Amino acid sequence: MTLHKNYIGGEWVAGVDASVNINPSDTNDVIGEFSNASREQVADAIGEARKALVKWSGYTTQMRSDILSNISIELFNRKEELGELLAREEGKTRAEAIGEVARAANIFRFFAGETVRIGGEKLASVRSGIDVEVSRDPVGVVGIITPWNFPIAIPAWKIAPALAFGNTVVFKPAELTPASAWALTEIIAKAGVPEGVFNLVMGSGPIVGQAILDGVDAITFTGSVKTGRSIVQRATERMIRVQAEMGGKNPLVVLDDADFDTAVFCAVDGAFFQAGQRCTASSRLVVTDGIHDRFVEAVAQRLDKLVIDHALKAGTQIGPVVDQRQLDQDMRYVDIGIREGAKCRVAGTTLKRETPGFYLSPTLFVDTTNEMQINREEIFGPVASVIRVKDYDEALSIANDTEFGLSAGICTTSQKHARHFQANIQSGLSMLNLPTAGLDYHVPFGGRKGSSYGAREQGRYAVDFYTIVKTSYLAV
Ligand code: ADP
Repeated sequence: MTLHKNYIGGEWVAGVDASVNINPSDTNDVIGEFSNASREQVADAIGEARKALVKWSGYTTQMRSDILSNISIELFNRKEELGELLAREEGKTRAEAIGEVARAANIFRFFAGETVRIGGEKLASVRSGIDVEVSRDPVGVVGIITPWNFPIAIPAWKIAPALAFGNTVVFKPAELTPASAWALTEIIAKAGVPEGVFNLVMGSGPIVGQAILDGVDAITFTGSVKTGRSIVQRATERMIRVQAEMGGKNPLVVLDDADFDTAVFCAVDGAFFQAGQRCTASSRLVVTDGIHDRFVEAVAQRLDKLVIDHALKAGTQIGPVVDQRQLDQDMRYVDIGIREGAKCRVAGTTLKRETPGFYLSPTLFVDTTNEMQINREEIFGPVASVIRVKDYDEALSIANDTEFGLSAGICTTSQKHARHFQANIQSGLSMLNLPTAGLDYHVPFGGRKGSSYGAREQGRYAVDFYTIVKTSYLAV
């Protein structure tokens, strides 16, 4: 079996040991062996990244832009092959995975443009004979720690702006999805990036992740709430810049006046596609009385017809969940819901398919209250709850009654309620007649409250995290 090594200072380096990457659609299918870096190797990677800073930030914006553009072109050209690899290691469907690779390509293309658009301000001084200029410097060595659910898009939306604005990178992907990260690294290595500018260190969070956190100048993280909190604490202790994207408990409000088919589509797609393993998934369906019963019935019927099977099989709509640990967590929450008194309108069970994998059918809970644990904590699986409410005001109040604030949606034909919701929902993303998941790549992404910490990611707003403002006074 080929050993996929870490990439440190422009060299492929074997780690202290290696982990085997398994296909969740077929646990007999081994994707490859991936090196785990030691703490010392992470420190080396940070050292190499630091050495490369002057050279990289000294490259012209055209040179950096060309390199990002090369990465984008390669991703586009290989999107089918890389999509298949991604679907194999993560379990989302082939179409979703190819779409994700195309998204990563688009992100690199977007930031190839942003590279040359970097600018500042020139202001009059309040004193005579002085000019004031406001410009942006790179932050330095950026540590990037990513989760498994978007194994190429999330790395792309952190790596592309980091490199665009003259930073160097030490990147740790999730343990479950090193193959997409390794393939992306190979593309970056061949795209003209000087040695040391981009480093891949694979391995566990407590070892490799912590070693990154201890040495870099800025850290960007996407993952669970628990890990995110500990990363923010450590980063603030070191007084380094930190950005953390964590969980959600995203509400989809469905009002009596909603277009019925739109509401059912938004609920099924937003809550269950990609096996609910999206931080923007709608896990709370907040539905007004008049439409409730009909809506629940229609959603349940749609769920019964969903094709859950091997991620690469033609016709599959939902693949397996990512691993045994996630499957156990999903089933544990189903039990918790039942014990709390929620009713299973559709009961999730493990499924047998031609190949052994982590197949789980959706669970739709009804008769739930917003106080239940299943409506407070992120489950990250194909499990959603319906909360019945009397009117829009109660729906909004319940939608906001959560410690999270990533995405929120409303299905309504009332302009008044739509606008009021947009203005008053406490979330970073607001959706009207659309699923809570499914986002563009060129606009900011992030949440409020416990969902996010630090500056926004993506689009033009990414520059705020990946650069430090300098104010220069020039006697003229
Ligand atoms: P999940 O439960 O979805 O795997 P995690 O937050 O545990 O989410 O993982 C997200 C990323 O954070 C992964 O790359 C993981 O290795 C990393 N990670 C986990 N624990 C730590 C930690 N203590 N310090 C730094 N990184 C960590």
